[in-house]
Amino acid sequence: AEERTLNFLEEIIEEDIKSGKHGGRVLTRFPPEPNGYLHIGHAKSICLNFGLAKKYGGQTNLRFDDTNPVKEDVEYVDSIKEDVKWLGFEWANEFYASDYFEQLYLWACELIKKGKAYVDDQTQEEIRLGRGTVTVPGKESPYRNRSVEENLDLFERMKNGEFENGAKVLRAKIDMAHTNMFFRDPILYRIIHTHHHRTGDKWCIYPMYDWAHGQCDSIENITHSICTLEFDVHRPLYDWFVDTLEIFPSKQYEFARLNLTYTVMSKRKLLELVKNNYVSGWDDPRMPTICGIRRRGYTPEAIRNFAERIGVAKRDNVIDFSLLEFFVREDLNKRAERRMAVLNPLKVVITNYPEGQTEELEAVNNPEAAEAGTRMIPFGREIFIERDDFMEVAPKKYFRLAIGQEVRLRYAYFIKATDVVKDVDGNIIEVHATYDPASRGGNSPDGRKVQGTIHWVSAEHAKKVDVRLYDRLFTRQDMDNLTEDEDYKDFLNPESLKVVEALVEPDLTTKKPGDKFQFERIGYFCVDSDSTDEKIIFNRTVTLKDSWAK
Ligand code: ATP
Ligand code: MG
Ligand code: MG
Repeated sequence: AEERTLNFLEEIIEEDIKSGKHGGRVLTRFPPEPNGYLHIGHAKSICLNFGLAKKYGGQTNLRFDDTNPVKEDVEYVDSIKEDVKWLGFEWANEFYASDYFEQLYLWACELIKKGKAYVDDQTQEEIRLGRGTVTVPGKESPYRNRSVEENLDLFERMKNGEFENGAKVLRAKIDMAHTNMFFRDPILYRIIHTHHHRTGDKWCIYPMYDWAHGQCDSIENITHSICTLEFDVHRPLYDWFVDTLEIFPSKQYEFARLNLTYTVMSKRKLLELVKNNYVSGWDDPRMPTICGIRRRGYTPEAIRNFAERIGVAKRDNVIDFSLLEFFVREDLNKRAERRMAVLNPLKVVITNYPEGQTEELEAVNNPEAAEAGTRMIPFGREIFIERDDFMEVAPKKYFRLAIGQEVRLRYAYFIKATDVVKDVDGNIIEVHATYDPASRGGNSPDGRKVQGTIHWVSAEHAKKVDVRLYDRLFTRQDMDNLTEDEDYKDFLNPESLKVVEALVEPDLTTKKPGDKFQFERIGYFCVDSDSTDEKIIFNRTVTLKDSWAK
C-alpha cells in the first residue's frame, strides 16, 4: 500500500497502544443486524473494522445484533457470513447479542436495585409525547417512582410473559430534562411475543439498541467500537451505562457512513425492491448488495482498494459510483483474460480468402499477465464485426473499416472493404472485403500502417450467448436527497437492464459462473449463475471507460 497519513481512528489506536491502554490490545467488532443482506456501505465498515485490527495485530468479532425477532432471520445470518468471508476477512469469534440476553437481564435488575430503572405502563404514544423536545423538558411518567420491589416484581413478570405486547416497558431513570434527549429515561426493554431465530420462545422481552450495544461490546472486551456518525448522540448514554454498571469500558468512535451516487442503501428500501420484484432478488447484479456486486463480477480486491482509497471521514459525504468502478476496472485489468465478442454483429465476407479454408491464429490472453499465456482462435472467410466498426463512407478521423479503408483485425489480418450488400430498405446486411495474406498476425512486412484495430469472431465458429448490459439502477444522482413527497421508486432507471445476443469466441461457452473476461474494446464481463448448458449468460461488470460522467 502507498504511504498516506494516519486517519483519525488510526491516530486514536496508536495513541492507545502507546499509552498502554488495554495492554496495547486491539479488538474490534462488526455488528450487523441480521435483517437484510449486506451492502457496499457495510463492506466499508467491514474493511474498516477488520482492517484496523489487522494493521495493529488485533482481532475482530462478528457479532449479530439480533435484538429484534420481528425482522430477523437465519437466511440473513448465513448470507452475512458468506459475504464477510468473500471480502477476505476472518473473524475471531462469531457471537450473537442474544447470547447475552441473560446477562443483560441481570444488569437491568441491578439498575432497578440501584433505583435507576423502572417499569412504565404508559403507552408508546404517551411516552413519546412525554419526552418533550430539545427546547421543552420532558414530563416524568406517573409510574416513575415505583418502589424497587414493585419494579423487580413487574420486570420479572414482563419476562415471564404475563403482559401483552406494548403493555409495559422498562426504562432507565435518568433525567427527563436532560439536554441530550437520549437521557430522558430511555426505554431498555419492550415486550415482543415473537419467536426468535436463536432463542426460540425463551424470551418475550427484548433489549433496545442502546441497552444492548455497549454492554455487548463490554462483555466481549471490545477496545474500539466503531460505528457510523448518527450514533454520536448515543455515545454519552453508551458511557453512562458502562460507568453505572462498572463494567469493561469499551469506547465508541464514529465515522461517516458511505453514500454512493445513483443508488440507495437503506435496508428497508432494498428489501422493498426485492419483495416487489423491481429487481430479481438480493443478488440482482444492479443491487448495491455485496451478493449483487459479486454476481455482477466485482472482486473483493477492488472493493477493499476502494474502501482504503475513500478512507474515513468525520463528515457525511457522497462518493461517486464511478470511483468504485475505477477500482473494479483496475483490478480486472490485471486478472481478466481477454476474449473477442461481438455485441451487434455485421457480417464481413473476405472475398479473396479461399472458400472452405479455416485456420487458427494465436492471441494473447492477458497483456498485463504474461503467465496467462496465449490461445488459438479460429479464422475463416466469413467473420462478424461490430456494426459500429463499419461505415460505407469514412468521415474524418474514422479509423475503422470503410470502403477503400484498411483496418487491422486483431491478431489476424489487414482487411479493406470493397462493397456492401443492402436489404430492400437500404440497410447494410453484409460487407465485402479483401485481405492481405502477408499481414498474418496483424502486421504487414512492408511496414504499412493502419490506423484502426477492430475485434471480430469467425462466423463459422462463433457461439451465441446472452449478454446482460447493466446501467445504474436509479436515474438520479443524489438519491439521499429526496423531498418528503418524492418516492425513490419513481427514479428507477427503466433502462437499467438490456439483454442482447452476442457472438463470442467458442471457448467462452465452456466457462463457469463467476469467470471473468475482458471483451476487447467493450468492457469486463462475467458468466452469470443463470447460465445453463444450452445458454451461457454474461453480465457486463463495467465498461472499459467511464461512461457515467457524460
Ligand atoms: P438499517 O438501515 O437497517 O438500520 P444499518 O445500516 O444500521 O441498517 P446494521 O446491520 O446495523 O445496518 O449495520 C452493521 C454495521 O454496518 C453498523 O456498524 C453500521 O454502522 C455499518 N454500516 C451500515 N451502513 C453503512 C454505510 N452506508 N457506511 C458505512 N457503514 C455502514
Ligand atoms: Mg439497523
Ligand atoms: Mg444498525
